[in-house]
Amino acid sequence: MLMIDEGYVLDRVRGYPGIKNITVQAPEGLRKKALELSTFLETAGYTVVISASPCYGACDLEEYGDLLVHVGHTRIYSTKRPVVFVEVTDDFNFVPTLEKNVERIPARVGLLTTAQHRLQLESVGSFLRDNQVQVHTATGSRTEFEGQILGCDLTAATKISHEVDAFLYLGTGTFHPLGAAIATRKPVFRVYDTFEPVDSEKMLRKRHALIFEASRASTFGIVISTKKGQYRMSDALAARAYLKEKGKNTFLFVCNEIRPEYLYGCDAYVICACPRIALDDAALFESPVLTCKEVPLMFEEGEYTMDMIV
Ligand code: SF4
Repeated sequence: MLMIDEGYVLDRVRGYPGIKNITVQAPEGLRKKALELSTFLETAGYTVVISASPCYGACDLEEYGDLLVHVGHTRIYSTKRPVVFVEVTDDFNFVPTLEKNVERIPARVGLLTTAQHRLQLESVGSFLRDNQVQVHTATGSRTEFEGQILGCDLTAATKISHEVDAFLYLGTGTFHPLGAAIATRKPVFRVYDTFEPVDSEKMLRKRHALIFEASRASTFGIVISTKKGQYRMSDALAARAYLKEKGKNTFLFVCNEIRPEYLYGCDAYVICACPRIALDDAALFESPVLTCKEVPLMFEEGEYTMDMIV
């Protein structure tokens, strides 16, 4: 069950006296929670507007209103306007799944999760230690909590990869554990109501096929986003200089929301914004879209590296 500590939110909001107008922002999956929170804050006397723009992470904070209540993510960048980050926690208990699979757990593991499940790290850690498993965690570059990873920050895994035999990713979804497996080259088990090894080979094969297709392009669009926590102009300029040196034509594009229908006119694109756009949504684009880390691979230079914003 997903939970928000509304009393905590109200205390934090009251910490900004004089503010009457609040904007609530939440990712699509937490819209219901945003509605509940909005009702709660309106009952407490505030005027609340809910952001209807897409929200994928704390890399893109809504700028409307006197104070932003941002639900479900932790802070990535600083703002002049006050922002209250609201934790959404999930009380799912991972221990029964671990109990059933205790024989499959390697001797030294790194724990990874998202902010939503971070409170479960303690019970998982104690269970593993009681079963003679060595447990490691680290804090990432753009994250706040031990073991927390994002699609653009897997450093909580890469920092400790030399100390562990494998990682346990606590949560649902495939992108985060796949990213950790590719970034660390270590086995990753996804733990929720099942205990499954993550197969990164399929994703890597797809990426290499796209990289090969892109290598035949002569005109490249290099795309940056105006979302503050995804703004990567220096990566875009570096990719452009590299491609020019290889004899390719390049154009720089900028937009806020990078959507397939906005990218036309070039043979291939390099996305210098959220890494998930090229990696998760590749099938939606007509032309090959690469991350900036994949650019040298078109010329057989370097080895596969996960793109991160760190
Ligand atoms: S850049 Fe992408 S992965 Fe990172 S926080 Fe934003 S939406 Fe999530």
